[in-house]
Amino acid sequence: MSRLITHWIDGRAWSGTAERTGEVFDPATGRVAGHVDFAGPAEVEAAVAAARAAFPGWRDASLARRSSVLFGFRELLNARRAELVEIVTAEHGKVLDDAAGEVQRALEAVEFACGVPTLLKGGYSENVSGNVDVYSIRQPLGVVGVISPFNFPAMVPLWFVPNAVACGNAVVLKPSEKDPSAAVFIAELFAEAGLPAGVLNVLHGDKAAVDGLLEHPDVRSISFVGSTPIARYVYETGTRNGKRVQALGGAKNHMVVLPDADLDLAADAAVSAGFGSAGERCMAVSVVVAVDPVGDDLVARITDRIGGLKVGDGRRSGCEMGPLVTAAHRDRVVSYVENPEGATLAVDGRDHEVDGDAGGFWLGPTLFDHVRPDTALYRDEIFGPVLCVVRAQSYSEALDLVNANPYGNGTAIFTKDGGAARRFQNEVEVGMVGVNVPIPVPVGYYSFGGWKDSLFGDTHAYGPDGIHFFTRAKVVTSRWPDPSHGGVNLGFPRNT
Ligand code: NAD
Repeated sequence: MSRLITHWIDGRAWSGTAERTGEVFDPATGRVAGHVDFAGPAEVEAAVAAARAAFPGWRDASLARRSSVLFGFRELLNARRAELVEIVTAEHGKVLDDAAGEVQRALEAVEFACGVPTLLKGGYSENVSGNVDVYSIRQPLGVVGVISPFNFPAMVPLWFVPNAVACGNAVVLKPSEKDPSAAVFIAELFAEAGLPAGVLNVLHGDKAAVDGLLEHPDVRSISFVGSTPIARYVYETGTRNGKRVQALGGAKNHMVVLPDADLDLAADAAVSAGFGSAGERCMAVSVVVAVDPVGDDLVARITDRIGGLKVGDGRRSGCEMGPLVTAAHRDRVVSYVENPEGATLAVDGRDHEVDGDAGGFWLGPTLFDHVRPDTALYRDEIFGPVLCVVRAQSYSEALDLVNANPYGNGTAIFTKDGGAARRFQNEVEVGMVGVNVPIPVPVGYYSFGGWKDSLFGDTHAYGPDGIHFFTRAKVVTSRWPDPSHGGVNLGFPRNT
């Protein structure tokens, strides 16, 4: 039965009638599972106005109150995580176990934000000059916008929302229109946990909603995650409009396999990180750089493992890889499989057996060998279950390849040589590095972010950078003079 998914504004579901709606699919059957309202200017205004009205009260709520709401949300999310997992699988298509991993990582970010009283501690210097004390405080920005992609409909919103509200801001969240229900579930749980109405609003829609936030004078900051062209656009437009912006973009993540690596470990990692979530992860491994002479052996081991992968409806037991998110996206990914540009199609995912409805947006795991760096197969972010193997003759050639790539989100090196790994960690121009770890997504008390075209702005997501992003610094210099300190002095203040 088709459902209508609508905005969450000022603590309740929006009751208006949208001028435009979008279809939300069940990717495992290809059927329309619901429709989602798309915001126009009036709904953008309503969401921002609700956030603006809620901000002063929430800003002034004590740290004890704010952290207690976050602890309450954490308890509710933990208790009801199975529901959120099902929502993610139903609209995104990733298998239940993978969705459970997403929710677990989201919980990490919530738990970090629960510590907000500690995180917002400032500095204090007593007696910097005679009877003068200096202290620093961090204050919230006001109304902040969060715009998230389809591929982590629960985790990416929760990279930002907990820190934003913990710091005292009011949020307008614009989730992906492809899988919008997780964001509404999150907002409902926050309301149940005691977050006042208007502090978290969910605005659905497409470019019109995003542009509305980017142009609204009351929106102080934008946290964006999505593809590189849109991230660049959001960064440029948001900063031009005077906003603080962090815009995380796409990726082409390389996994370098040195000749001394444990090839079974490397093959396991390449298959897990290449095909988990059907390759629709910004930290997916999409390029394996096999350093001579391991190429043939490694490709054989990867091929062998792909044969055993069970592809199908994420709700069915035993399925390891689900469908792609939409038919259009599946067709785009298939177009790369149809055009090898001289590479060897070692495994053709179109032939993979599927345990699911014939109407689902399927493509099985696909492997290309001998991929040349001057082809679209190598250059483009395909964002599907397509793994490319590039051969390199040396460590240096592998490193140069990674560093020449315009993306710089994640990378990994597989080796038993600590010196080589340490050199790689130092020399590689990528924001997140794994050593014998294929998807090095930092834990919640570090921060997540790439380099180069994978991030616009200078602040990473969640963790300490998140607290920094969602607050402004203020330094107070104070003197409580005794009677001997009177008198006018026009000289520049110096500390004596
Ligand atoms: P997308 O760029 O198409 O959409 C992201 C958000 O931008 C959505 O909310 C969407 O509604 C909005 N949007 C789309 N087109 C727009 C336009 N023309 N103007 C304004 N807003 C627009 O990305 P996606 O397909 O939803 O997600 C996949 C992408 O996200 C991949 O490129 C992936 O690498 C990237 N991603 C990056 C990270 C990271 O941390 N760097 C994490 C997850 C996903």
